[in-house]
Amino acid sequence: MIKLVVLGAPGAGKGTQAARLAEHFGIPTISTGALFRTHMAAGTELGELAASYINHGNLVPDEVTTGMLAERLSEPDVAAGFILDGYPRNLEQAAVLDETLGDEGLTAVVDFEIRGTEVVNRLLARAAIEGRSDDTEEIIRHRLMVYREKTAPLVDYYRERGLLVPVDAVGEVDEVTARTIAALSDAG
Ligand code: ADP
Repeated sequence: MIKLVVLGAPGAGKGTQAARLAEHFGIPTISTGALFRTHMAAGTELGELAASYINHGNLVPDEVTTGMLAERLSEPDVAAGFILDGYPRNLEQAAVLDETLGDEGLTAVVDFEIRGTEVVNRLLARAAIEGRSDDTEEIIRHRLMVYREKTAPLVDYYRERGLLVPVDAVGEVDEVTARTIAALSDAG
C-alpha cells in the first residue's frame, strides 16, 4: 500500500504531479484545497468558513481541515493507498497525520523544489486560466510567506524521519513526473 504526501510551494506543480502519480499508482489523490473549493462552489457552511481564510491566503483552522480530511480518509477508496496534496501544511497537522496513520505511517514524502520567483510567474499564469479567487499577486505573495513560515518546516520534519524524497520541480510536466517516479523507486 502506497501512502504519499506531496509538498512544495504554491505553484510548484504538486497538484498536477499528484494527479499523475495517482494515475500511475492507481490510487486516489486527496487535495484539501480542492475539497475546500468544492465546498465553496456548493456554498456549504464549511465552504463559507473556508473562503474567509482562503481568499486572504491564510490557512483554514486546523480543526476544520482535519475534520474534513478525517471524513475523506474514512471513505472506502483510500483502502488501497492515497496521495495527500495540501495536507499537512504545518507541524501540528503533521502530528495529527502521524497519529491517524499509526505504526505503518507514510511511504514517502515528495518535496517539489522550486525558486520563489518562478512560482509567482507560474501562479499568475494559472490565475489567468483558472480564475481562482486566491490567485491575485498580493494574495500569492502572502501565500508564499505562509508557506515559508508554516509549511516549509515540514521538509526538515520529514527529512529527519527518513521519508523525504526531493524532486526538482523545474522542467516539462512529463519530465517532472518521470523524475518523481524514478526517485520514488530509488527510495525503495
Ligand atoms: P496551493 O497548492 O496553490 O497552495 P491549495 O489548493 O493546496 O493551493 O490550497 C489553497 C488554499 O486552501 C490554501 O491557501 C489554504 O487557505 C487552504 N488549505 C488547503 N489545505 C489546507 C490545510 N491543510 N490547512 C489549512 N488550510 C488549507
